[in-house]
Amino acid sequence: MRMYDIIEKKKRGEELDRQEIRFVVDGFTTEQIPDYQMSAFLMSVYFSGLNKTETYELTMAMMESGERLDLSEIEGVKVDKHSTGGVGDKTTLIVGPIVASLGIPVAKMSGRGLGHTGGTIDKLESIPGFNTAISKEKFISQVNSVHMAVAGQTANLAPADKKIYALRDVTATVDSIPLIASSIMSKKLASGADAVVLDVKCGNGAFMKNENDALRLAEEMVDIGKKAGKSMTAVVTDMNEPLGRYVGNSLEVYEAVQCLRGVGDEKLMEVCYVLASYMIMAAGHADGYNDAYEKAVNAVKSGDALRKMAEFAVAQGGDASYINNPEKLQRGQVEIELKSERTGYVSHMDTELVGKACLALGGGRETKNSAIDLSVGIYLNKKRGEYVNKGETLAVIYAGDAKKGEEGSKILKEAYTVSDEKTGEEDKIIKKIIN
Ligand code: URA
Repeated sequence: MRMYDIIEKKKRGEELDRQEIRFVVDGFTTEQIPDYQMSAFLMSVYFSGLNKTETYELTMAMMESGERLDLSEIEGVKVDKHSTGGVGDKTTLIVGPIVASLGIPVAKMSGRGLGHTGGTIDKLESIPGFNTAISKEKFISQVNSVHMAVAGQTANLAPADKKIYALRDVTATVDSIPLIASSIMSKKLASGADAVVLDVKCGNGAFMKNENDALRLAEEMVDIGKKAGKSMTAVVTDMNEPLGRYVGNSLEVYEAVQCLRGVGDEKLMEVCYVLASYMIMAAGHADGYNDAYEKAVNAVKSGDALRKMAEFAVAQGGDASYINNPEKLQRGQVEIELKSERTGYVSHMDTELVGKACLALGGGRETKNSAIDLSVGIYLNKKRGEYVNKGETLAVIYAGDAKKGEEGSKILKEAYTVSDEKTGEEDKIIKKIIN
């Protein structure tokens, strides 16, 4: 077999078989295939696409390139959730404790933030003492005792995907539906859960900008998971504005705790309750959707989910006083208020720019090895569809120093459009459910 012939075949739009796909993945992972040929291959996939069988084979080849977590020592149906990435997305920190408080094992492998999107591991590390680099044994025993553990992805989880993703990142081949679907699912399948609930983000802050593409991605991932024997649900949710009111690691933990205390942003809670409901159903802990939803709401009302969050934090070395008293969580000391220059409605938010403003504050990573300031971020006082007077505060920036604060503020200003038109309410938060 020759890589040249495989590139040629895909360039012509022909179907690749299992052996050819394995040849590409294994050859690239073991450095038999050079970057320049793999780049050409990825671009041919970008333009010619992959059918469902090819996408499944690519997923399995990447999944089998490394370690697969065996969670069989955990009792019950292990459920995982995964978001395709957005701005202000702290749902794991809310949904995880809700579901775990019902006795359902939540065994979660999470990533760090990259580019304008955040990652759960960074957020959790803003709780002093919290350790995400736990051993497999500790991970499993914690899920059995506390019903929730969150660990950073080990280096050996789908290493083929890591290598391919790094190349996609610099060859403009990230936003391909079969490549995204196989990348995400290779890691989800390798992390060993029985059921996966996917939150596919859709809008100007997400990979998928429109509903059709988001639905296609959701369907691809659900198909792959089902074929691999997993219980799968995908929920397509809005990312035409950040989720909730806070963006930035420590600030998002603060907001998640507020949500668990029952005083969270309504739209954010709606997404969380829907995701939690599908996780509860997948675990077999409810008689249908309404029952699951009620259980999720009650877990917050009763304080069980908040107590679970504190228990989970302590189990991973975190200081529970930051959960019981979230005002203690660090916030950038330099506060800058962004004022509206006109009266009207917030009619549009460039969500990616909000993420980039946080990045400019030092709250995210430009590259994998960039340092990150967990204390910085943004409070969004106004969001789409909300009325604002001239001179009123649109948002508050929490920066580490004035220079970075000004940089972030300039970008954030561009993210807001205020006009006479009251738009933004027509976009449903939850667009579609697939399972
Ligand atoms: N997240 C992933 O893990 N992979 C992609 O390709 C896109 C988002």
